[in-house]
Amino acid sequence: MHNVVIVGSGCAGLTAAIYTARANLKPLVLDGHEPGGQLSLTTHVENFPGFPDGIMGPELIENMRKQAQKFGAEFKAGAVTEVDLTQRPFKITAGKDVYEAKSLIVAAGASARLLGLPGERELIGRGLSTCATCDGYFFRGKPIAVVGGGDSAMEEANFLSRYASRVYLIHRREEFRASKIMIDRAKANEKVEFVVPYVVEEILAPEKVVTGVRLRNVKTGEKRDIPLDGVFVAIGHDPNSTAFRGKLETDENGYIVPKHGSLTTVPGVFVAGDVQDHRYRQAVTAAGSGCMAALDAEKFLEEHKD
Ligand code: NAP
Repeated sequence: MHNVVIVGSGCAGLTAAIYTARANLKPLVLDGHEPGGQLSLTTHVENFPGFPDGIMGPELIENMRKQAQKFGAEFKAGAVTEVDLTQRPFKITAGKDVYEAKSLIVAAGASARLLGLPGERELIGRGLSTCATCDGYFFRGKPIAVVGGGDSAMEEANFLSRYASRVYLIHRREEFRASKIMIDRAKANEKVEFVVPYVVEEILAPEKVVTGVRLRNVKTGEKRDIPLDGVFVAIGHDPNSTAFRGKLETDENGYIVPKHGSLTTVPGVFVAGDVQDHRYRQAVTAAGSGCMAALDAEKFLEEHKD
């Protein structure tokens, strides 16, 4: 029987682990599909407070993990496949393993959608990014592309135009899912060039560093290569909430809806990080919400000593 089980080992989960471990609750952290979360997939992080020279994403996350372990957090590999939240103790199943917990912190994160091209994942941090706020600065004075036609793509195109010499906005249709105001803003930006209706057929990276994209016009079949240094994939995120659907309240996109702070519809279950946040999605906001969940769980356990 665990006092607290934390689902997910990204920034939110590890911060919750540090706080609950320091409160002597001996948390158990279940690593999930992507141990370390999205930080483990990025390179240089320059906007996490406290590191004036920046820090590599994997190093930052490894430091948080060590910090949690130092105070007694336990880690187990495995992703949650099923949960029973109908009564306490909660039952959490990860493959063959079943855990019982007096309280639960869901910090399972969200995964950025990728285009599904061969070798794409290996190019993350080598010219391919899913986070403009994180990586835009590295492309000062360089041509880049943003892929997608939603609000994220428009927002990122505008944001990235501060740094990049040119921003190609590549979208597979001539219509956009984005709101009119966001489209108008991107269209009015002279650094942003709309390239539609095109799909990315290949990310060119002969030396495993992005040098361009090969596009296909969806209507005419025409092929076109654009030389560039960076590709930002902005085609949406998927919250890792599958095991919790129907058990905790989720919105139409599958994000868990927090009630008050980190509280959910089930007393004793708390939520933190990107699995409940499609707006800010920053390492520091995820860490902050992990702290909130830990304090809420601690208070809950204090009030439900039995
Ligand atoms: P989204 O609205 O779901 O848009 C995803 C875009 O990516 C769509 O244009 C879609 O094309 C395209 N796409 C999806 N899969 C693709 C693939 N395999 N290959 C090529 N293109 C693909 O996602 P989002 O832009 O991340 O926005 C998510 C939510 O956050 C939305 O509700 C949005 O309004 C909100 N948001 C708001 C703001 C803001 O207001 N400031 C900023 C960012 C996000 P199709 O249209 O052809 O399907």
